[in-house]
Amino acid sequence: MIEKNLLSRNGCLLDALMAISSAPGHVVFIVDDTKELLDVLNAERIREMLAAGHSIDEPLSLFIGNHCPSVDEKGVIDGDEGRFACLPVVDSGRRVVGCYKTKTHKAIPLTEPLLGIKEFGYLAEACLSGWISSGGHYIGRFEQSFADYCGAKHGVAVANGTVALHLALLALDIGPGDEVIVPDLTFAATINAVLYTGATPVIVDIDDSWCIDPDAVRAAITSRTRAVIPVHIYGQACDMDALMAMAREHGLAVIEDCAEAHGAECSGRRVGSIGDIGCFSFFGNKIITTGEGGMCTTSFPELETKMRILRDHGMSRTEKYKHAVIGYNYRMTNLQAAIGVAQVEKIEQILMERSSIETTYRYQLSDFVELVFQQDFSNRKRVVWLMSLLVPEQQRDSLIDSLKMRNIDSRPFFCPLSRMDLYRGYAHNCRYSVEVANRGINLPTFPKVDVLAVTNAFKACIKPTGRAAIPLN
Ligand SMILES: *Cc1c(COP(=O)(O)O)cnc(C)c1O
Repeated sequence: MIEKNLLSRNGCLLDALMAISSAPGHVVFIVDDTKELLDVLNAERIREMLAAGHSIDEPLSLFIGNHCPSVDEKGVIDGDEGRFACLPVVDSGRRVVGCYKTKTHKAIPLTEPLLGIKEFGYLAEACLSGWISSGGHYIGRFEQSFADYCGAKHGVAVANGTVALHLALLALDIGPGDEVIVPDLTFAATINAVLYTGATPVIVDIDDSWCIDPDAVRAAITSRTRAVIPVHIYGQACDMDALMAMAREHGLAVIEDCAEAHGAECSGRRVGSIGDIGCFSFFGNKIITTGEGGMCTTSFPELETKMRILRDHGMSRTEKYKHAVIGYNYRMTNLQAAIGVAQVEKIEQILMERSSIETTYRYQLSDFVELVFQQDFSNRKRVVWLMSLLVPEQQRDSLIDSLKMRNIDSRPFFCPLSRMDLYRGYAHNCRYSVEVANRGINLPTFPKVDVLAVTNAFKACIKPTGRAAIPLN
């Protein structure tokens, strides 16, 4: 049955791609006329060739021979088996005589949404109803059920998390001349939204929760400071008790960036219900998803009304086509909201599964005293978005590369804003965030992930040194 894995060297990349699609294990062995092994290819390798600028009609002979793991007749593997679902078994003359199934072949993505029949059912219903734009009953249902979940009075569904942040800033009348304090360790959307308004972002350091440091916020407050955007990073709630007290004292607005922390809590209140406005993302890799999507939550009816008007072209809510302000089209579709309603119904299950994945990771990696996991704080309840940890700085990038060689996706922490030319000028001293970002890695986290496959690969890439983690100084 190895015939389906064999491909003559005379073809082109397209021939290989077609053969790969029907070959067992989606791997082909390139051979010459005597069945002597020349190369092993799968779709990932073809993709790499195309990404490197080659075209699909180039002859295979151009690529042959630079990567060719195989197995001898005794079962001894020569080369890195990690990238392929199966490898050629070769005889002493390197002729292919069989096919060996490898164990570590399955590609593991960083994350996968948990979508099922419920999402599909609601989506189909929304489709068939004809309400596929921003009318339709799923929008209101999604807004209310998600706001209820967060413990906020109102939800305003929007097109994505970035425009949720922009809408929140606009509703609070933040603009040129104002300063808005943001943490250094975040996704760029947080600061970009501030820049859209013409306000000046002020970037401050994080603390050992990896969230914005309340002391750094206090030190950055000036007479122009209007708002602070605490980002609940990697599922960790910020110290909202300290931040809210400070905001009240100085008359600052608080916009929570909750894009990575649906369901996290501080002092018994869910994020999105603590500050003036909470901003959520439902992008495909977030805790719950609508494909693209976002929501602003608030318990202030005047902020809710303002956000609804600005979201809908600035149109008067009583007189159609009368515009009193320059608005935006930041609406979500009923199709997305249909998926969102189903996701809210299972958010507890999703959070539980993610949390148990983290528990398994921590157990499996408990031999490594040099690793630093996220901390838990007595006044906060963390949720798990992506398994997040710090590894020794000099090993971080090689670990990501080695995992990739084994078809396992992982990613480094966000690049601190203060380390990018675009934003550097807005930054205060941000020592911790730079150190955390240089050591941080996210591992695959989604309900069906094979944690052991990841931790085994992790252990094959780095060995415990027995030396304790270097504390953040
Ligand atoms: C994902 C994310 C956003 C932006 O959300 P989108 O829906 O992708 O626009 C904003 N802030 C943080 C911290 C995020 O992780």
